Amino acid sequence: MNNIQKPGLYIHIPFCVKKCNYCDFFSLGANDSPCGKGSDIYDSYFIALLNEADYISGCAHGRTLRCGALTPAAYDTVYIGGGTPSLLPHKNITELIHKLRCVFDISDGAEITVEANPGTLTDDKLKAYREAGINRISIGVQSLNDAQLRFLGRIHTSKEAEEAVALAKRYFDNINVDFIFGIPGLYGISLAETLMNVRDKASFVIDNEIPHVSFYSLITEPGTPLYSWDNAGRLDRVEDELEREMYYEFSDMLKARGFGQYEISNFVLPGFESRHNLKYWSGAPYTGIGAGAVSFLPAPDDGQFVRFRNVPDVSAYINAYAPASNKAGDIYSEKPVVSEIQEILDVNARKKEYMMLGFRKTKGPDPELYSHLFGGALLRDDFAGEIEELIKKGYVHDDLSLTQKGLDMGNEIFMKFV
Ligand code: SF4
Repeated sequence: MNNIQKPGLYIHIPFCVKKCNYCDFFSLGANDSPCGKGSDIYDSYFIALLNEADYISGCAHGRTLRCGALTPAAYDTVYIGGGTPSLLPHKNITELIHKLRCVFDISDGAEITVEANPGTLTDDKLKAYREAGINRISIGVQSLNDAQLRFLGRIHTSKEAEEAVALAKRYFDNINVDFIFGIPGLYGISLAETLMNVRDKASFVIDNEIPHVSFYSLITEPGTPLYSWDNAGRLDRVEDELEREMYYEFSDMLKARGFGQYEISNFVLPGFESRHNLKYWSGAPYTGIGAGAVSFLPAPDDGQFVRFRNVPDVSAYINAYAPASNKAGDIYSEKPVVSEIQEILDVNARKKEYMMLGFRKTKGPDPELYSHLFGGALLRDDFAGEIEELIKKGYVHDDLSLTQKGLDMGNEIFMKFV
């Protein structure tokens, strides 16, 4: 089996110091928790995580599980994301890794990533992560401009971000940094992003020899402060044309220094592609553990996959897997009912999703893998009309890789396969 098709394991840590102004991920700021604060809730949550891992591993090797999906027996990537995993005491993360290794078959050489916020990283934590076997760290830097960081609601300054990256380099070779671009300003308070800011970001990656960078344009998500400021007309927006220029400036600077672009928003030095993220873009199965975590797993019915989500509610999750009456135990109370099916994909729906996600990658969808996944089916036959149109419009080369124009027209391409 192609390694990309091996299953991945995702663990969700839904806690942050405070919510950023643009963030709609499922995470709670320290003052937003409905069921306790600080180490109490973190400990209860971690007991729940460990119990869920036990529960899932008890169902592994093909027995049916939550929402009728089949749990894989072995994994070759683990991703601890959030939220802010690095907010928590490192003993929690160390114990979690130990537990995962005990109850799951995690292959030697597995890629194990932890996400970190620069405002929460310490030398002790980094050392403990490394000793626990974590071999990749993803640091949310977002901007190198303090006014923009304040506007975004980040808890760190640019100097602290630089220090966190320098510290991480003592322990990790495999480092990602996340940057946001196209950051607007609030009228009269701070300045919107400039091309110079973007050049600083690219220079930061190059000068610090960071091998992987995610470069996302800022989206105003409903329910966030940013969204309400936008609705109230308070944002000093970056024009679309300038935003595109920023994207290409960043991309050109990195490419001139040996970086490749393997996904619309991701740039990498050779050999440092995120194996875990490649699974998402290649239709591979994954198991999610934790409140709000999503799983995508095969169903017992031939060819079907189920996408389901653990309830995005920390109290309900803890009650299911670590009820107060049994906090010290390692047995959940009853069969947990904390997952909801989001969709069931039959073969046709999976094929379309494979194409849509495949065109996130600059190489495009892989015809060989497609055949392997879908019983010998030919991608160029199944989607002959769509592919012809994409080539005619100049979005895609004959070998299905994205053209420069295709990189700009991602949404139009994805819509062809919805
Ligand atoms: S630190 Fe990350 S997960 Fe937490 S609120 Fe900010 S963007 Fe969201």
